[in-house]
Amino acid sequence: MASYDYVIIGGGSAGCTLAGRLSEDPDVTVCLLEAGPKDDSFLINVPAGAAAIMPKPGKLNWGFETVPQKGLNGRKGYQPRGKTLGGSSSINAMIYIRGHSSDYDNWVDMGAKGWGWDDVLPYFKKSENREAGATDLRGTGGPLNVANLQSPNPIGQNYLDACAQLQLPKTDDFNGEQFEGTGRYEVTQKNGQRFSAAKAYLTPNLSRPNLTVITDATITKINIEDSRATGVQCNINGEEKTINATQEVLLCGGAFGSPQILLLSGIGDRDELAQVGIDCVHHLPGVGKNLHDHIDYIISYKSKSTDTLGYSLVGIYKAIKAVFAYRKHKTGIFTSNFAEVGGFYRSSPDIKVPDLQTHFVVGIVDDHARKSHLGHGYSCHVCVLRPKSRGTVKLASTDPFAAPLIDPAFLQDDRDMEVLLKGVKLIDQIVKAPAFEPIKGKRLYSSENMNDEDWREEIRNRADTVYHPVGTCKMGVDDMAVVDPDLKVHGLVGLRVVDASIIPQVISGNTNAPTIMIAEKCADKIKASRA
Ligand SMILES: Cc1cc2nc3c(=O)[nH]c(=O)nc-3n(C[C@H](O)[C@H](O)[C@H](O)COP(=O)(O)OP(=O)(O)OC[C@H]3O[C@@H](n4cnc5c(N)ncnc54)[C@H](O)[C@@H]3O)c2cc1C
Repeated sequence: MASYDYVIIGGGSAGCTLAGRLSEDPDVTVCLLEAGPKDDSFLINVPAGAAAIMPKPGKLNWGFETVPQKGLNGRKGYQPRGKTLGGSSSINAMIYIRGHSSDYDNWVDMGAKGWGWDDVLPYFKKSENREAGATDLRGTGGPLNVANLQSPNPIGQNYLDACAQLQLPKTDDFNGEQFEGTGRYEVTQKNGQRFSAAKAYLTPNLSRPNLTVITDATITKINIEDSRATGVQCNINGEEKTINATQEVLLCGGAFGSPQILLLSGIGDRDELAQVGIDCVHHLPGVGKNLHDHIDYIISYKSKSTDTLGYSLVGIYKAIKAVFAYRKHKTGIFTSNFAEVGGFYRSSPDIKVPDLQTHFVVGIVDDHARKSHLGHGYSCHVCVLRPKSRGTVKLASTDPFAAPLIDPAFLQDDRDMEVLLKGVKLIDQIVKAPAFEPIKGKRLYSSENMNDEDWREEIRNRADTVYHPVGTCKMGVDDMAVVDPDLKVHGLVGLRVVDASIIPQVISGNTNAPTIMIAEKCADKIKASRA
């Protein structure tokens, strides 16, 4: 029976960060357990490879579906999630965004003492190595490389020009002094290659004798004795193993995995556990509640421009050339994160902080790239940054290998529909601006003349996630909080949850950098508790 000081469940954005930081101390032993395989596939390393991993479940992608969503006319949503070292940071769109400072001050108002903007900023700076240099708000010298794209696609400029034509504000750094406005996204890449949390925090430290990394290891249960987490039950290549933790079990399974593992361990709402036949070990009603996510709608056009990746003879010729450019110089279209430019905007002038985000994609995105189209094109996403709808993650059965029941309750709160409608009308103006005329082809699905009712129906027929589920083990001090501000599970000893699931309210932007920040800050808390 193996035993370590710290046992980390899940080698995703948070798990890799914790493993890297905790194993800096040679006096502690750390074991990281990941359900998926190693992250050595070229589809992870080459940025554009994500387009092949994302659309379907497989070795590297859990590829979950939601339960039928009333707000989406009964459709099931699709929820890709990374299943490999690096977790979702190994399959994501690599955009580096922290959100707005008020997001974190709001967390404090919700009971997360010590997580205000002034508290978290040092950890954002500590984690990053910004190639463009340090400022008062930006950091250099950290493990996570943050770069500008090697080969920005020319059609990103059409988006920037269109926003300028609409007199939308512009910004040079979404993570700097001005959050609001249009601009180019920075990416977690280095030299044209993906820079996941594994590349940042794990790969460089694999030779540490006190760090053990086990892949293809699915955690089936956390062992609890007398209200203390003592270790985990784990299935490694079909064999059941017990791995003990002498100090703490650190749960980093992500917004779906973490509540699922807690519930399988008998930690959750007593009545709901009884319904699936699990004995309640610790009654904690908030586990799996408060699920929320950025609901998103996309307008796509076909295009005469063959600058984008696309299915055509010219497209194939350009893709072959791009293989050589990538292999030789790590440049060209394969370095694209697709969502190259975008912005943060307000749905109405009386709102203080932008509540809409756009991602302009240099290709056609239809149903999470699960549907493809002949030819070339471009797409513009818009999402609701601070949705009001709240859903759940529940167990479908006691089988740890069965997917959980995921219900984001998209558009259940009518206010989300109204904000999204305003967002859709904004991107409709952007894509109709003169800057797009030279490259514009046929529009997919929606038309250029739709009234509000048409739009609401179109949204219900096509909107879905932009991949930022959070909140299912929320941090706080109220009855529905799962962890306290030290990320310790309420009522238990030796167990913390450290990942996007602890976020009480989703931040105004993409969630990878905030999740890494959470793990950086928690690593310091753990180190301090040993001192
Ligand atoms: C397609 C896509 C695009 C995205 N684009 C962006 C972007 O451009 N920018 C951005 O900031 N964010 C983006 N995100 C979101 C961001 O990547 C996530 O919010 C972040 O990675 C979450 O980190 P996490 O540690 O909470 O979970 P994850 O990184 O998902 O890690 C959880 C890990 O736990 C493992 N695990 C789960 N259950 C078990 C179990 N039972 N046993 C063992 N291991 C288990 C999983 O395999 C996984 O490796 C995107 C996400 C996706 C899916």
